[in-house]
Amino acid sequence: MNARRPNGRVGGTLILGAHVHSRVPDDAADVELALTLLAHLEHGELSVKAVMDRIEMITTAPETQRRILDRAVERGIVTREDGRIEPVSSGTYVNFQQDVIVKTGEFSCRRCGASLSSGHFVNFDDGELGPFGSTCIRKVLGRE
Ligand SMILES: [Zn+2]
Repeated sequence: MNARRPNGRVGGTLILGAHVHSRVPDDAADVELALTLLAHLEHGELSVKAVMDRIEMITTAPETQRRILDRAVERGIVTREDGRIEPVSSGTYVNFQQDVIVKTGEFSCRRCGASLSSGHFVNFDDGELGPFGSTCIRKVLGRE
């Protein structure tokens, strides 16, 4: 791991500028992508398990999964009460025409593992999530 930190500043302060997009050494990118996904869910209410099913598509590390959920609550993306998760509507629903990209090729669905001849990807500002089959992507986004 590249441990050089010229400013000696770790955590707390987000330093914007050069090289922010070089490979993040920890799971910060996964956390951000998962938070973006949660912010786009169209469900009214979900069980913790259903939310975890979605987070698992991004990371299988239990510590990261817990941190994603904690951070989603902290940031007001979801509310959590008695084991139920409710996404806070913020008008960030995915527009299927604009935000879902279909690519042709050989893929396997990230959700169910089915082989696909075309993969659907959700195009978020901070990353792509996919591939999914046409049914699974609707489930991921909460259309069904
Ligand atoms: Zn699938």
